Amino acid sequence: MRLKTLPSEFQKALPILSKIKESGYDAYFVGGSVRDAILERPIHDVDIASSAYPEEIKKIFSRTVDVGIEHGTVLVLEEDEVYEITTFRTEEAYVDYRRPSQVHFVRSLKEDLKRRDFTVNAFALNNDSEVIDLFGGLQDLEKKTLRAVGDAKERFNEDALRIMRGLRFVSSLGFSIEEKTFSAMMANANLLEKISVERIFIELDKLLMAPFWRKGLEQLLSSDVYHFLPELKNSKESLQLMLDELTPSFQFETSEQAWANLVMCLQVKSIKSFLKKWKTSNEFQKSVENLLAVYQIRLERDISRQDVYRFGKSIINQVESLREAKGLSFNYDKVSELDGQLSIHDKREIVVNGSKLMTLYQLKPGPKLGKLLSDIERQIVAGHLDNTEKAILSFVERRLASE
Ligand code: ATP
Ligand code: MG
Repeated sequence: MRLKTLPSEFQKALPILSKIKESGYDAYFVGGSVRDAILERPIHDVDIASSAYPEEIKKIFSRTVDVGIEHGTVLVLEEDEVYEITTFRTEEAYVDYRRPSQVHFVRSLKEDLKRRDFTVNAFALNNDSEVIDLFGGLQDLEKKTLRAVGDAKERFNEDALRIMRGLRFVSSLGFSIEEKTFSAMMANANLLEKISVERIFIELDKLLMAPFWRKGLEQLLSSDVYHFLPELKNSKESLQLMLDELTPSFQFETSEQAWANLVMCLQVKSIKSFLKKWKTSNEFQKSVENLLAVYQIRLERDISRQDVYRFGKSIINQVESLREAKGLSFNYDKVSELDGQLSIHDKREIVVNGSKLMTLYQLKPGPKLGKLLSDIERQIVAGHLDNTEKAILSFVERRLASE
């Protein structure tokens, strides 16, 4: 099969293929971008695979960066773009179920495509826009089927992360999983306990953020794979709530929103320890906590101007959209209105700072000054005090005089 129109990202990268070929080696576009090009979906990261060894690639191009030479990957910088060029390789048995113990560079495209996870991810595209399909991937694309390359049991046993990747592709492509592939996922799911949590997080997160997330989540549930993910063992009913509570067309807008909803459905006692198990960043944890705090506030009362100041418009709107998806009352206009009333969005915007007050009024650092500053901030946010030097200093003088 030949692509009718070659996406511009590939066109731009054609000279790279030509250069490698002129030096006597093979080179192809490979990976998800070929799949997406066939599906006429937008493509990202153009990956190139070549029979040239890393050292040979480095001789062909003048600007290269070593990023993972032992795995065969060299970055090539051409025309303001960065391309990942990876030598055709095979992978040896995965001793610890995490990473291949050794990769072997090979000169054969077929060997390289064989190691790839799913037939729809195992295409190569040559410089004539011809798709090389050695494992029936085109037929699987047609049937919207996700099928492991080769013996599914072996493939998931080699690398259990592929199980999560599979579920994530269900979610991004809306495909169904072929029967043998599905049962092999189930049979090897326990091996996920050996995979790094960070990598599993990335896949579950992508699953939740993708257009067919409901389908992905349903498959996660019906495969029983969730039992082997951090903190999700025996959580079928809670996870099912994610599907039942939200209106079918709902798409999560941010990862924080998705994970906050997950935490809520699970009725997690400590968000902190839950997200620690998932090894997320402190910043991510904080946003999830804030989202849940706002969600709680909204169960009790309306949003105030102070809330908008404290949590920010974005977090609050994400709560409003969750409420909308759950059939609860929501009011984006109110959030915008309150946000518009704020004369500051951050205390650093206050025109008089602590050191200025210390100099002007011979104050010392400590609780008294801290209280004064936070009172100024609160009064400005409430709209009772203008954020001007004159107004703030007269507020401070009145305060000091009354002590
Ligand atoms: P996306 O569109 O999300 O980037 P992708 O298919 O490009 O999806 P990547 O993680 O970018 O996925 O990997 C690029 C390619 O490398 C895949 O298409 C697949 O051929 C191969 N690959 C990646 N991870 C694995 C794995 N764990 N096992 C086997 N092959 C893999
Ligand atoms: Mg990719």
